[in-house]
Amino acid sequence: MTRSYDYAEAGAHGEVVVNAPLGPGTSTLPWFAGRESEYKVPASARDTMPCPFQQKRENTMNNTKAYSAAGAATPLAFTTISRREPTERDVQIEILFCGVCHSDLHTVRNEWSSVMETVYPCVPGHEIVGRVTRVGAAVTKFRAGDLAAVGCLVDSDRTCPNCQAGLEQYCPNEIFTYNSPDKHRAAPVTYGGYSGSIVVDQDFVLHVPSNLDLAGAAPLLCAGITTYSPLRHWGVGPGKRVGIVGLGGLGHMGVKFARAFGAQVVVFTTSPSKREDALRLGAHEVVVSRDMGEMAKQAGSFDFILDAVSADHDINAYIDLLAHDGNITLIGAPEKPLAVGAFGLLMGRRSLSGSIIGGIAETQEMLDFCGEHNITADVEVIPIQKINEAYERMLRSDVKYRFSIDMASLKAE
Ligand code: NAP
Ligand code: ZN
Repeated sequence: MTRSYDYAEAGAHGEVVVNAPLGPGTSTLPWFAGRESEYKVPASARDTMPCPFQQKRENTMNNTKAYSAAGAATPLAFTTISRREPTERDVQIEILFCGVCHSDLHTVRNEWSSVMETVYPCVPGHEIVGRVTRVGAAVTKFRAGDLAAVGCLVDSDRTCPNCQAGLEQYCPNEIFTYNSPDKHRAAPVTYGGYSGSIVVDQDFVLHVPSNLDLAGAAPLLCAGITTYSPLRHWGVGPGKRVGIVGLGGLGHMGVKFARAFGAQVVVFTTSPSKREDALRLGAHEVVVSRDMGEMAKQAGSFDFILDAVSADHDINAYIDLLAHDGNITLIGAPEKPLAVGAFGLLMGRRSLSGSIIGGIAETQEMLDFCGEHNITADVEVIPIQKINEAYERMLRSDVKYRFSIDMASLKAE
């Protein structure tokens, strides 16, 4: 059953309309199941209740401008959201740039509803860099005026084996930067970086090397770590032949890292026009994946392939390119399941795996690596007012290679 929270538009905030019964234990959302009562949602359909925004307004004036989507088919538009007052462990950041990830688009359009249903209004954005404006009394990592960054995670339970191992991205209770339940109750769910400011626990805030261009550094917080982590995990380096599939925001960072790690890098693209760029970004070779002759020449030759494609595609064509014991890792998260033929994996004991972002320590390691090697994303800087157009262009693969929103543009609203 589809459930949506249909909030009265910001400003009115008189009531929230719940479109479906949400008694205890009724939610199908993994992060929400069993926690329905925390949100005090009445069990009767289309009941009304005081809006959490209004409740919070009494104890906070920490509002900020933002762009949000009111529904899956609604363009992003200007709004005002509440942030919590910084607690003693919190860092408040004025957001300077926010990258535009394809995950933002998947979420806004509720394309991942089978796994993670979108709660509206939705404020996306998890590639955040900015400047610290305020810190809580117990904050030791940051001072006002510091550069700071926030990626896809703003909290986790910190006690599970994965958190203890620095793998917060695999914590069963991880809190994503947007569309996760907001335990601080500033809003029903967390709101991301398409906004003027954000308040985050210092443990989930990263340092940005001062030599990096900030617009190009923002995408490191998702596209960067999402490619860095599996390339490191699978030992990509000198002597390894590595394929990167899909030259988008993630893919182009994968090329930069794989090259920096010393691997032999081959880009697979559906866009022949990206050939020169791929070589400039660091690829040794470029294969246009729609050309069966070019693909056949690569059969059985790869130690590792990173698949960063956002839409349905034939993954078997890439499994066939792996050498004995080769691995293909999915980082792309298409809306629909991919069909995997058994024989491609059986022959040659090949493996297929997945990977999601990276832990906090590894994200800092990646940022430091980028500082040392002067690596940033290739970005097209846009004002927030162009965000809906940017989504359409991203769907056409018409971006070189990441949109980065100049958040100063929000001040014009
Ligand atoms: P993007 O910038 O839109 O890049 C996707 C690329 O995929 C395109 O540039 C295109 O490359 C290729 N592509 C698009 N449609 C295709 C099709 N129908 N067939 C074959 N290739 C196609 O997206 P992104 O931000 O890099 O994100 C890529 C995917 O990773 C998304 O699904 C996103 O949600 C997911 N993601 C996952 C994680 C994680 O932690 N695992 C983190 C962030 C994002 P060519 O033009 O070169 O073919
Ligand atoms: Zn992302």
